[in-house]
Amino acid sequence: MATQKMLKFVSTEREMPAKRDAAERSEDFHEIYQEYAAAKAAEQAGRCSQCGVPYCQSHCPLHNNIPDWLRLTAEGRLEEAYHVSQSTNTFPEICGRICPQDRLCEGNCVIEQSGHGTVTIGAIEKYITDTAWEEGWVKAVSPRHERTESIGIIGAGPGGLAAADSLRRKGFQVTIYDRYDRAGGLMTYGIPGFKLEKDIVLRRNKLLEDGGVEFVLNCNVGEDISFDAIRGKHDAVLIATGVYKTRDLDIDNAEAGGVVRAIDYLTASNKVDFGDDVPDFADGELDANGKRVVVIGGGDTAMDCVRTAIRQGAQSVKCLYRRDRTNMPGSQREVQNAEEEGVEFVWLSAPGAFTGHVTGVAAEAQERDVDDVAQIASVRIQKMRLGAPDVSGRQSPELIEGADYDEPAELVIKALGFEPEDLPKLWGTDGLDVTRWGTIKADFSTHRTSLPGVYAVGDIVRGASLVVWAIRDGREAADAIETFLTGEARVAAE
Ligand code: FAD
Ligand code: SF4
Ligand code: SF4
Repeated sequence: MATQKMLKFVSTEREMPAKRDAAERSEDFHEIYQEYAAAKAAEQAGRCSQCGVPYCQSHCPLHNNIPDWLRLTAEGRLEEAYHVSQSTNTFPEICGRICPQDRLCEGNCVIEQSGHGTVTIGAIEKYITDTAWEEGWVKAVSPRHERTESIGIIGAGPGGLAAADSLRRKGFQVTIYDRYDRAGGLMTYGIPGFKLEKDIVLRRNKLLEDGGVEFVLNCNVGEDISFDAIRGKHDAVLIATGVYKTRDLDIDNAEAGGVVRAIDYLTASNKVDFGDDVPDFADGELDANGKRVVVIGGGDTAMDCVRTAIRQGAQSVKCLYRRDRTNMPGSQREVQNAEEEGVEFVWLSAPGAFTGHVTGVAAEAQERDVDDVAQIASVRIQKMRLGAPDVSGRQSPELIEGADYDEPAELVIKALGFEPEDLPKLWGTDGLDVTRWGTIKADFSTHRTSLPGVYAVGDIVRGASLVVWAIRDGREAADAIETFLTGEARVAAE
C-alpha cells in the first residue's frame, strides 16, 4: 500500500551506499561499500512505487516480500522490516551483499525499466539485517517442540546451512558434516572478504550452533566416514556438497609451474585473511605479490581472482576473456569495480599455449615454446572475433589467424568454471542417479534423489550457481524432509 513516504523515485535520485576510494580499498580485504545511514536507507526505500505486481519479488529466487520491507524501512519500522525480510530468507544480509542484483530483483524493478534507476534493494536488505544484528533482534533458533528424528547434512555451504536452520526450527536434530575446518562453504573459502567479510558468515555459523545444530568439521565424507555410515546414523540425509572440479585447458604446457586453479588461489587467500598458516602461500606459489598476473575467464570467479591479486600487490593484473564485455557472464558491477582498482581486461582473447623456462636449464632459461616447461614465463594470446550465434544464442568466438602475441606472466590463474565430482564413484554409492553433466538428479521441488530418504540441493544439483538459489533449495528440502519424516512416523504409528 502506498503512503506519502513512498513513490519518491521522481524527486529522489538513486544512491548506493558510498564506495571506498579505489586506492584505499585495493590495500585491504574489507568490504568496499559502506553502510547507509538510517535516514538515507529510509529515503532510498521510499523511492519504491509499491507495485501491485512487483517484478522485483517475482525475480528474486526467494520471492522476498520486497515492497513490504521497503515500506517498513521508509517508515522507520525496522524491527518489523527485519521480521518480514527474514521470514523468506535465511541469510538476508549475505544476499544483500553478494546477489547479482542487476540480474535478479533490481534488474527487474519497474522504475529501473522507466529510466529512473532501480530501487537499491540489495543495499537496503543488507542494512535491515545488519541493523537487526546490532540491535540484538537476531536470535538463535529455539524450537517449541524437540523431535527425535535426526538429519545428516553433508556440506556446510549456504544450501546445507539454510536447510539446517529450517529443520531446527521444526524441532529436528541436525548434524552437518564438512571436510573444511570452518563452515560456510564458498561463502567462507571462495568469495573474498571485499565482497563478504568473514565475520558476517562466522556469526551465522555460531547462531546455528547456538540453536542446536551440531557441526562435524574436518570430516571428508567418503574418506573419514562413509556415505552409508551417515545414512545409517540418520533418518534422512541431505547432500549439499557443491561443485569443485575445475574445468581445464587443453593447450601446450597447461600444467606448467605458476599456473594455478582459481579455487586453490582464493581458498589460500581467504585462509591467510583468517590468519591461518598456508604453506603454498608462504612459499609464493599462491601469492600474487610482485608478479605479472593473467587470469583466464570472464565469470564472477575470475573477477574475484583479479581483485584479490590487486590486493596482494601484483605488479600487473590482466583478465583474458574470449568474448567481449557485453557477452561476459560476470557482473558488470564487478567489472567496473575491478577496473577502478587497476585491472586491465583483454577482451576477445584466449590462451593458445603457455611458454616458459625449460626443465633443467633454468640457469640459461630461455623463453621458448616447447614441451616440459617447468615455470611459466608468458601466455601466448590468440585474438578472437565474434561469429555466428551457437545453439544457446550466444555468438561463438572465432580465431583470428596470425594475430597471436606473448604476454609475460609469472602467475596464471585458471577461472574457467566448475564441474561436479563423481560422487557415486567417490562414495561407492549404488543407486544415486546423476545427470549427463554429473550433477545429482533430484526432484525440482522436493529435492528428493533416487535413494529413499536422501535429498540434494545447491550447486551439486544445479551446477555452479548462486548462494540465493542454494538457500531456496535448502529451505524447500527442509519442508520435503519434514513431510517425509512425519508421514513415515504416522505410518509407523498406525
Ligand atoms: P558450497 O558453498 O560449495 O558448499 C559445499 C560444502 O560442502 C563445502 O563447505 C565443502 O567443503 C563441503 N563438501 C564437499 N564435499 C564434501 C565431502 N565429501 N564431505 C564433507 N564435506 C564436503 N554466488 C553468489 O550468489 N554471489 C557471488 O558473489 C558469488 N561469488 C562466487 C565467487 C566464487 C569464487 C565462487 C567459486 C562462487 C561464487 N558464487 C557466488 C557461487 C556460490 O558461492 C555457490 O553457488 C554457493 O556457495 C553454492 O552453495 P552450496 O551449498 O551448494 O555449496
Ligand atoms: Fe534481491 Fe537477492 Fe535479496 Fe532476492 S535475495 S531481494 S535477489 S538481493
Ligand atoms: Fe518497488 Fe521496484 Fe519492486 Fe516495484 S519493482 S515494488 S518499484 S522495488
